Amino acid sequence: MNEMLRQYYLTQLGVTRWLPQGGIDDQSALAASLSDVSCAPVAPVQDRTTDSDVDAAWETLREQVQICTRCPLNQSRTQAVFGVGNRQASLMIVGEAPGYHEDRQGEPFVGRAGQLLTAMLASIGLSRERVFIANVLKCRPPNNRDPQAAEVAECKSYLNRQIELVQPRLLLAVGRFAAHCLLDSTQALSRLRNQTHHYGERQTPLIVSYHPAYLLRNPKDKGKAYQDLRQVTQLLRQSENQSG
Ligand code: SF4
Repeated sequence: MNEMLRQYYLTQLGVTRWLPQGGIDDQSALAASLSDVSCAPVAPVQDRTTDSDVDAAWETLREQVQICTRCPLNQSRTQAVFGVGNRQASLMIVGEAPGYHEDRQGEPFVGRAGQLLTAMLASIGLSRERVFIANVLKCRPPNNRDPQAAEVAECKSYLNRQIELVQPRLLLAVGRFAAHCLLDSTQALSRLRNQTHHYGERQTPLIVSYHPAYLLRNPKDKGKAYQDLRQVTQLLRQSENQSG
């Protein structure tokens, strides 16, 4: 990605430079920090090869989700929103649940929050097509209410299976619900950020950040989200280097 395009995406996000590691809590500190931090281009992340057996497993899982009636959300959905992206992606992004637009279009992270997520990915040299994106819940809660524990309990196995099939090098949980679901935690999002967690038997590294919908309501936290994205980039590079 050329520098002009990168700057365009950063401007869309209200951020003009990468943030240094270590935490920035107020806007004056943020402004001071931006002046001496370069916006180095991010090298593309290499993805892994495919497997026909895995492809068949994907189709089975997709069919199960499309006809699922495990929880009452099946009665109010337009359609189940399975997930989208590269099934061999290095980075898998997990959100909360479909909203109005996602329910109508059958794809996660569309609408304004989706546009912001796309811009965030573009700013670190990734496209939506190169990552895999899924939600904890595959069906929209009415009026976009919070997911209920029973719904998460019924649906979580689908997400677990998706992660098992993708085998990402890194998981990015955006928002409190995704973080709580993947980490089996009830801690505040602010306490879960700024550290590398690990998920499942494979101990896949996991980073927690803000949900794009939250960032639209609270643009002052976009700078912190960029700290998280920088951490994502570093961990992906480390993983590539370790695997040769
Ligand atoms: S939210 Fe999940 S468990 Fe509930 S009906 Fe949809 S796919 Fe099934």
